[in-house]
Amino acid sequence: MSISSVIKDLKGRLDGKVAIITGGGSGIGYESAIIFAREGASVVVADNDLKSAESCVERIKEKFPMHVRKHTLAYKVDVTKEEEVKKLVETTLKEFGKLDIMFNCAEIIHPHDDNCLNTDEKVWDVTMNTNVKGVWYGCKYAIEAMRRNSGCKGSIINTASYAGFLGSATPQIAYTASKGAVIALSRELAVTHARENIRVNTICPGPLRTPELLNLLNTDDKKNRRLCHIPIGRFGEPIESAQMALFLASDESSYVTGTEIKIDGGLTAAYVTPE
Ligand code: NAD
Repeated sequence: MSISSVIKDLKGRLDGKVAIITGGGSGIGYESAIIFAREGASVVVADNDLKSAESCVERIKEKFPMHVRKHTLAYKVDVTKEEEVKKLVETTLKEFGKLDIMFNCAEIIHPHDDNCLNTDEKVWDVTMNTNVKGVWYGCKYAIEAMRRNSGCKGSIINTASYAGFLGSATPQIAYTASKGAVIALSRELAVTHARENIRVNTICPGPLRTPELLNLLNTDDKKNRRLCHIPIGRFGEPIESAQMALFLASDESSYVTGTEIKIDGGLTAAYVTPE
């Protein structure tokens, strides 16, 4: 990549690209949709909660000038249903002509996910169906679509977690297993499709300062039990993971594939943390 092409790309890091973001109605997916649109991409905000996807699209329309408006679509999808994911990709191709970026961000953390002995099979299944099967379907139909692109064929970004690397004494066994699976399947896809120039990478966020987390950690004791393990000394923000997704979506990361990028304030690197 020449310096002049890098400078050109800085105008809009995703100029002319088409992206699907599952789970785009909330958190990292929501923030990513906004900055992907800001950088010139057409964005399909896909979520099983259509209202939240629509509110993301409204936000994009408010924030950006007319030319961005016709490049954004809210779409209702349940990623656990293969036919629905297939249709999501078909609709994207029909509306925008191609697919360059697939960001699989939809997820579930079940409130009854617990340790190995106490977790119900139904909880296990819904977690695996959303977090693993949903990612597989997303990759499968994205790869089919990306094969039709010329040149730089595509970037798939999957979402795992620090939980894919660390065991937790406050267990969520199904969630943890699902995130390990996402890391493993993404590596294999990266290798299998590397020669086609379809890149596959995984982002691994640390704990984020979302309303859910703050509700869960509603005492200083609970907060500090976690914060003491994070070298940087605070929880992350969804936008901090979205910024990494933007890099992986763009051609700036053209030689990056098959990797897991931790956005965790040093959590997974730490033995002891600063006083
Ligand atoms: P979130 O919970 O805010 O949003 C997830 C979105 O997925 C929601 O809008 C939800 O409606 C949608 N969704 C759920 N099931 C779906 C289905 N079957 N089909 C389509 N959409 C569905 O998510 P977040 O906290 O921003 O997390 C995004 C990703 O980052 C997830 O994969 C999550 O596991 C990972 N992550 C989050 C944290 C954190 O602290 N929030 C930490 C590590 C990893």
